[in-house]
Amino acid sequence: MQKPLTVAYFTMEIALRGDMPTFAGGLGVLAADIVRSMADLQVPGVAVTCLWQHGYLHQEIHGDGTQAYSDIPWEPATILQRLLQTVTVTIEGREVTVGVWLYEQKSGDHIIPVFFLDTNLPENRPDDRLITNHLYGGGQATRIRQELVLGVGGVRMLRALGYADVGTYHMNEGHCAFLTLELLRERDFRDENVRQSCAFTTHTPVAAGHDVFPYDAAWKIAGDNLPWHIKSIAGEDALSMTRLAMAMSRGTFAVSRIHRQVSRKLLRNDNVDYITNGVHHLEWLCPEMAALFDAHIKGWRGRPQLLMDRARTVPDADLWHAHESAKKRLLDHVHAATGIPLDLDRLTIVSARRVVPYKRPELLYTNIVRLREVACGKLQIIHAGNAHPHDPFSQEVIRHMVERSKELRDCVKIVYLPNYNPELAKLLVAGADVWLNTPMRLHEASGTSGMKACLNGVLNLSTLDGWWIEGYEMDPQAGWRIGPLAQALDADDTRQIDAEDLYTQLQYQVIPEFQYPNRERWIRRMKRAISLMGHFNAQRCVEEYLGKAWGELPHPGGVLLGWK
Ligand SMILES: *Cc1c(COP(=O)(O)O)cnc(C)c1O
Repeated sequence: MQKPLTVAYFTMEIALRGDMPTFAGGLGVLAADIVRSMADLQVPGVAVTCLWQHGYLHQEIHGDGTQAYSDIPWEPATILQRLLQTVTVTIEGREVTVGVWLYEQKSGDHIIPVFFLDTNLPENRPDDRLITNHLYGGGQATRIRQELVLGVGGVRMLRALGYADVGTYHMNEGHCAFLTLELLRERDFRDENVRQSCAFTTHTPVAAGHDVFPYDAAWKIAGDNLPWHIKSIAGEDALSMTRLAMAMSRGTFAVSRIHRQVSRKLLRNDNVDYITNGVHHLEWLCPEMAALFDAHIKGWRGRPQLLMDRARTVPDADLWHAHESAKKRLLDHVHAATGIPLDLDRLTIVSARRVVPYKRPELLYTNIVRLREVACGKLQIIHAGNAHPHDPFSQEVIRHMVERSKELRDCVKIVYLPNYNPELAKLLVAGADVWLNTPMRLHEASGTSGMKACLNGVLNLSTLDGWWIEGYEMDPQAGWRIGPLAQALDADDTRQIDAEDLYTQLQYQVIPEFQYPNRERWIRRMKRAISLMGHFNAQRCVEEYLGKAWGELPHPGGVLLGWK
């Protein structure tokens, strides 16, 4: 029998290591940062996910801007430890066996075990062995099978591993909601009892992003697991994983304040609360800045909230020097990857993100005449970002951006780096001068890459959406905003307005301030950006989850042992 757990954190994806492609994007990166901070805070907890053989993809960009995406081969046995426990889950009337692998997320001597569920076992039929093969792969039927393995299989596996006493089962997005079915079964279908043990975070501000399964498919595949009253908890017309998660949780959380507002409306639930995301301060800070903080902000490693008041004590020249080292490392990488030499003294704007239409990565190129007028000889631009291999529209956006970069070659250097992943993200968020983010309003639930940039003293230039509404409100000097805080405007209305405002901000604010001889104002802004990270770190986020979502705190609290 294992010790009681405060939380079992369920997540479809997790990005613990660059060489473990068990994630697709921001959701997995966030899950990993939460687990890291749970370890730092010595929370008695575990995480549960699936062992995806294929998840994150390698991206190649050809000279003409077209792309090729390929699987990243990896060997779980070289990173994870296979455990002996197995459980079964009934899928389409068959018993499917689920195995498990262990990864230990350590901080000091505290460990958060992360359990990876796996159906690739010889006792399973060939097609069942493939259930945990492709993250978000296959059609609807595959997705139902995958979510049964994660939810029902996950709870059974915790029991098999000896975890009987779990304070809160946390569902990171609706994919995990089938865990409530197993809890219902264990507890004689007492909804209220299960509800007391579950919490749910929704990440998706648009209806299309939520898993909804027709009941005929759900009955066929998951039938043995569905309780008689499934329609009253998961929706009358179709099985909505989000509805199920909400109905069976004592708390539903959005990931930023604006996202709470969007979610309340979208989910027709006025009880949605929010906990704004955060990033793990030690994971995303470059070594030069970390050394500087060690010298000037004693204790920041254990208590990142100290950045709030103390970032301003770092000497200007040292801060700029640390930034230039990180910038040089990025520019060296760009040179090696593309053959293009960029200039260390030139204002460097980075825009890097998974390419999906709502993020509007091409907004900067809306008006080429204006861009030329503003940018010629004054700045250089680095892009990165993968598109989904089955999303020709977004791939076309990348191709278009590569084409644009050639048109502008005579006046502004623009590079598109291939293969955006957490390792490249680390170089980019530290080496940029400005982090550009231009999502469609109300579509960015939180966003976390801008937080990583802030941490490194990189200034955000972003539309007001997701976390940046809160960041900008906390300190409008910590970066810049693009366009208004217009919550009702739709996409077509804002594209022109935002593009024009982006050029104006660059022309009259960002570029002049960067070129100002002694950089004093710029460096003051950098410190303010770092100060913000006293709040937007994953430790604060986990502390809020402990307080609002995970009940009483049977752990030592915010005091960390063994840290400087
Ligand atoms: C941080 C990160 C993300 C999430 O960033 P957004 O702010 O949502 O764009 C996605 N992918 C990678 C590789 C990251 O490091």
